[in-house]
Amino acid sequence: MFTVGSQLTEAAGDGDHRQRWQHAVRLLDRVGIPDPQLCMRQLPGELSGGMLQRVMIAMALAGGPSLLIADEPTTALDTTIQAQVLQLLHSLQTELGMAILLITHDMGIAAQFADRVAVMYAGRVVEQSDTGRLFRAPQHPYTAALLRSVTSLDSDRGTPLPVIDGAPPSPFAPPSGCRFHPRCPLATDRCRTAVPRCATSTADPLPAGTPSRSSPCRRSGRSPRAGRRGRRRRSSRCGRSRGPTPGPGSPCTPSTVSASSSAAGRRSAW
Ligand code: SF4
Repeated sequence: MFTVGSQLTEAAGDGDHRQRWQHAVRLLDRVGIPDPQLCMRQLPGELSGGMLQRVMIAMALAGGPSLLIADEPTTALDTTIQAQVLQLLHSLQTELGMAILLITHDMGIAAQFADRVAVMYAGRVVEQSDTGRLFRAPQHPYTAALLRSVTSLDSDRGTPLPVIDGAPPSPFAPPSGCRFHPRCPLATDRCRTAVPRCATSTADPLPAGTPSRSSPCRRSGRSPRAGRRGRRRRSSRCGRSRGPTPGPGSPCTPSTVSASSSAAGRRSAW
């Protein structure tokens, strides 16, 4: 088992051991570790979950990244520590001018902190959009089902929480056609055989400043959550659809993005 110091100095860039040690101590101080010198000599098992997460963030910052990838940064933390870690990431983003790519299963965190969200199912992006529009009017049936399954303080306690029938597919043997079709209430025969694809991704960019959104679902906008007005206004992005083509960042290409934020975004993301 290695101490925090031995791991952090290894990531702390060039220079002799003393310089890297000092750099590591400054990083721990920046992420809010109360006694950095003591922490450098401790083993990971001696730290709480919140402190470990801060050490990980310090390690990620050691190289001065322009993009920080945070994979489930708040999992297994209690609510108070979650808020502290997210606040820390927010302040670091503002201070260092870096973008953050957040991978999370927590829709609340994505709604609160991300500028843009990409929803993935079985290894594919099924919908991507600016955050506000995705939560107001999801286009893809999976996104809509996810949002329906989120609990709220207003929920009727006697009403069962909606669930998505079936189970996630094996990544080694994904379903044919649309990977969501075995669980999709809107699936058609064509969904079972043909992979839905976007018509184009970059040929027709939207006007500058207009956030793009897209979903490869053949029946985008027909989810139970989408209203008639929303269906008229939104355009399907599948290859068979008419209407505007998606802007840059089409979800046709599989990606690991769940939610992203940029320091130069329209609003602070954290
Ligand atoms: S392409 Fe078909 S199966 Fe896939 S989400 Fe859309 S309606 Fe459902």
